[in-house]
Amino acid sequence: MKKDDVNALFLGPKSENEKFFKEMLIMMIDEHLQWRKDFHPDDKPAISTSEKKEEIYKETFERTKNALLELSSKLKESSMPWFSPRYLGQMNSDTLMAANLGYMSTILYNPNNCAYEGGPATTSMEIEVGKQLAKMLGYDPKKAWGHITAGGTIANYEGLWMARNAKSFPLAVKEVMPELVKGKSDWQLLNMTTDEILDLIDKTKAGSKFDEVRNHSIRGIGTQGGKFGKVLVPQSKHYSWPKAADILGIGQENFINVQVGSDFRMDIEHLKSTIDNFISKKIPIMAVVTVLGTTEEGAIDKVDEVVKLRDEYQKQGISFYLHIDAAFGGYARTIFLDEDDQFMEYDEMIQKLLEAEVMEINWPKKDVYNAYKATGQADSITVDPHKMGYIPYAAGAYVARDKRILDLISYFASYVLEEGMVNSPTLLGSYILEGSKPGATAGAVWTAHKTIPLNMTGYGRIIGRSVEGAERLYDALKKSEYLEVKGKKFLITPLVSPDFNIVCFAFNEEGNKSLQAMNDLNGRIFDQCSYKSGKVFKDDFITSKTELDFKHYGDAPKKFVMECGIPGDEWDKVKSVRVIRSCVLTPWLISNTNYLQYWGSFLHSMKKALEKIG
Ligand SMILES: *Cc1c(COP(=O)(O)O)cnc(C)c1O
Repeated sequence: MKKDDVNALFLGPKSENEKFFKEMLIMMIDEHLQWRKDFHPDDKPAISTSEKKEEIYKETFERTKNALLELSSKLKESSMPWFSPRYLGQMNSDTLMAANLGYMSTILYNPNNCAYEGGPATTSMEIEVGKQLAKMLGYDPKKAWGHITAGGTIANYEGLWMARNAKSFPLAVKEVMPELVKGKSDWQLLNMTTDEILDLIDKTKAGSKFDEVRNHSIRGIGTQGGKFGKVLVPQSKHYSWPKAADILGIGQENFINVQVGSDFRMDIEHLKSTIDNFISKKIPIMAVVTVLGTTEEGAIDKVDEVVKLRDEYQKQGISFYLHIDAAFGGYARTIFLDEDDQFMEYDEMIQKLLEAEVMEINWPKKDVYNAYKATGQADSITVDPHKMGYIPYAAGAYVARDKRILDLISYFASYVLEEGMVNSPTLLGSYILEGSKPGATAGAVWTAHKTIPLNMTGYGRIIGRSVEGAERLYDALKKSEYLEVKGKKFLITPLVSPDFNIVCFAFNEEGNKSLQAMNDLNGRIFDQCSYKSGKVFKDDFITSKTELDFKHYGDAPKKFVMECGIPGDEWDKVKSVRVIRSCVLTPWLISNTNYLQYWGSFLHSMKKALEKIG
């Protein structure tokens, strides 16, 4: 057996840890009950013993109980069994006991992290968690700042919000304090590096004109029809990005897709030619977004090459804000950190992961490694505790490399507060997109991070198991090549060799040359193995699907379609391919559990589905 604690971290697919879970929950409820009693112990109770005996009192309890039972039956009837290793669909899995207990315990106090007084304990926890995430992602926690958002979507909004306001700041300085940017052209001001802009913030503060400058920046004067440049995102982006561009007034015409290759990673050559094209027309680049773990394929963009490209452009006087959308892949950086939280050398890492039995496979690919190594050089990062952090909803996070950037969006004179206040701001709501927000989420993330180290000895082990499960599924699909049903052969083709823990694949009947027919086939298999079947509790396996179409991906899927045995001109005609998509977040699909047999039965359930649809 592996020497690890992952088994003790989750309730378990069969509620194996129910005794501990109940004990902890009751312990925390008792703690809360006593806390109430200890507040002015001499105060008389508000509800008397005789009142508690009244009929209406009992009736009310009964109504509450019935409502709860109805709630339970509704939940049980239709909820997805995310806790089960048979669930290989969306980015869901069981959540950590520490997090669930932390959440449920905190909610009894109902803290609100909008303002410090609404949740003193949980506001500090939120800022502490922000620093932990900053460190995990390769930032200097003393300089960085991060906080919990309602999800990756909100964190992405914050990222683009910062980028947008930063871009306009130097021009505002020119209006109000021209002496600070003497001799610089507008083009140069629109191409200042993020660090130079942050230094400018300090200088305007020293001249006590920061507020005035900020009012001349984009938040005072508006976005002005693309004057502040283009936002470049890969085709594989999450749909929160076009929404962000809309909300922030960037305009869809300034929101530019960069092609992805047949590996579904951002095409660096295309990124470069896109930038070159704009700067040759004197159009600045406001921001570049790169994705660590795409939502549909789990692809890891080559962050290191994007960083390198930015650094090269900076030498030529061109700069842009760089944001990493690591909503999905961010926590996997824990696998790369040794027991002292140091980022490991590649060979050392592979060796250590095997020795410590974090994984029984060789992972990662070298370019995935290089991407994770470079994250600390971006200006900000989105990371979702409610995805690979195994925390219940709603927990995303925005993390910035340099906390000075907060002043660009704050609606409170944060800069007049002393340094210490930024660590636990009195009004968090003024530095972030949201207002009132649950302290319970911070309680959940904090408790999980307290229990599980953010390195290979903790989270790395959980995520290592998830990655290993995905690799094993990929291998099983590759090995089986085809399934034979009623004398017909159905070929299985994986989309790509996974960078991370999502496995996409498609079936095609041998000899079929019609893409439409192949899409129909995979659609019908999905219907048999997903929420669409209407009987998820009876299904052997639950998967998800996705459509890769020309509108979003250009011709990137064409190579895969041809690998499935479909002629290329079919793609040119149909321009969309449907794939079955399995996010393997579960930690239970590894060699030392019973579930290894499940790969056989996973394929068997696909076969059953094929039999059914005939
Ligand atoms: C999930 C995801 C998001 C959005 O996060 P939510 O938490 O669902 O709001 C953004 N980007 C990527 C890459 C994602 O996978």
